[in-house]
Amino acid sequence: MARYRGSVCRLCRREGEKLYLKGERCYTDKCAIERRAYPPGEHGQGRIKLSEYGLQLREKQKVRRIYGILEKQYGNYFAKAENMPGVTGENFLQLLERRLDNTVYRMGFATSRNEARQFVLHGHILVNGKKVNIPSYQVDVDDVIAVKDASRKGKRFKDVFEFNSEITTPDWLSVNLEKAEGKVVSLPTREDIDYPVEEHLIVEFYSR
Ligand code: SF4
Repeated sequence: MARYRGSVCRLCRREGEKLYLKGERCYTDKCAIERRAYPPGEHGQGRIKLSEYGLQLREKQKVRRIYGILEKQYGNYFAKAENMPGVTGENFLQLLERRLDNTVYRMGFATSRNEARQFVLHGHILVNGKKVNIPSYQVDVDDVIAVKDASRKGKRFKDVFEFNSEITTPDWLSVNLEKAEGKVVSLPTREDIDYPVEEHLIVEFYSR
């Protein structure tokens, strides 16, 4: 599966904010944004006034990077969102939020979406009792997501659960971290999106 393999901290610096792509490190003073909060590259520290298109592009890229999705698949999500009833921008965010890798992350079974994707790909995650190794799998109401029994006793998962022991689970999910199991109780709404985003800019970008 194709994915971005460069430095993820560069992506945060490009967007000028923490995207929390590296798990534990993002919460320490080793975070690159804490040290160099300006875009990478030769002209990174120069003054940049973004055009309207620039603002739309940056917002689109920021959200794409948060979920770690390549351009083509991201565009497919937007096309699907446009054909759904309701508000396109909200539909779009909901489709991204319903990805299995994001759900695993939001349940606290991983410290970042990147790590959640690895857990899914490596077969550690069950959906309704069956192994699902497709990070883009769309979860639905009443789906039960769990870490495989043999996996949850391993050191990495123990460390993850300890790190995440105090996280707040969004309202659309209910989680039992001790059992490493959670349920989708409703579909995510706009209020469940926990990072700053102006989705109208993304809609405007794709509507050009
Ligand atoms: Fe972004 Fe995390 Fe790297 Fe900080 S440590 S720049 S939040 S990926």
